Amino acid sequence: MAKGLIFDIQGYSVHDGPGTRTLIFLSGCPLRCAWCANPEGQKIRHSLMYKPQLCTGCPRRCADACPAHAIIPRSEGEGLVKFDRRLCDTCDSMECLKSCYTRALQRSGRWYTVDEVMAVLNRDRDYWGPEGGVTLSGGNGSLPRRCSSAAVNRSSAPVLRAAGTSCGLCSKKSRSTCSGSSSM
Ligand code: SF4
Ligand code: SF4
Repeated sequence: MAKGLIFDIQGYSVHDGPGTRTLIFLSGCPLRCAWCANPEGQKIRHSLMYKPQLCTGCPRRCADACPAHAIIPRSEGEGLVKFDRRLCDTCDSMECLKSCYTRALQRSGRWYTVDEVMAVLNRDRDYWGPEGGVTLSGGNGSLPRRCSSAAVNRSSAPVLRAAGTSCGLCSKKSRSTCSGSSSM
């Protein structure tokens, strides 16, 4: 069964294609641009996001909860804790998330089946109107080819229109599969 790693889904977008749209952010990009607006979507794996503006410093419960001791208090710089990203980037348990009540720590990225994506699209479709539809973004909207093309193909039926945003760095096959049913 085709699955895609998605790091966010946003409804009611009016800036990413014609009409009103549902935005699906697919994880994974071969580039590492310094100006990337969504760096949490660059890797093809889940990752830990830290939102310093939500961090109260509490008694640093997250540091106690991390079995790898990857969280270190800090007194200067952005945020009240910092992370050993080499450890976090290979962590599957993400035990620290359960300890943070302010949601300063969040998981970015979850594997969705095409059916799960379609359930979200079917929830949203009433407000798209005649011009709107689905936009695949990222990350690189054309990279996880099997899932994104399956979602686009299934959503291209009667009332949906798909659009994609991509850095363009992908195989010819990926590009033609996606662009065959969407505007990129
Ligand atoms: S548990 Fe959350 S609020 Fe407390 S120090 Fe850690 S990130 Fe900040
Ligand atoms: S993601 Fe894993 S390694 Fe990183 S702070 Fe959380 S529990 Fe520790």
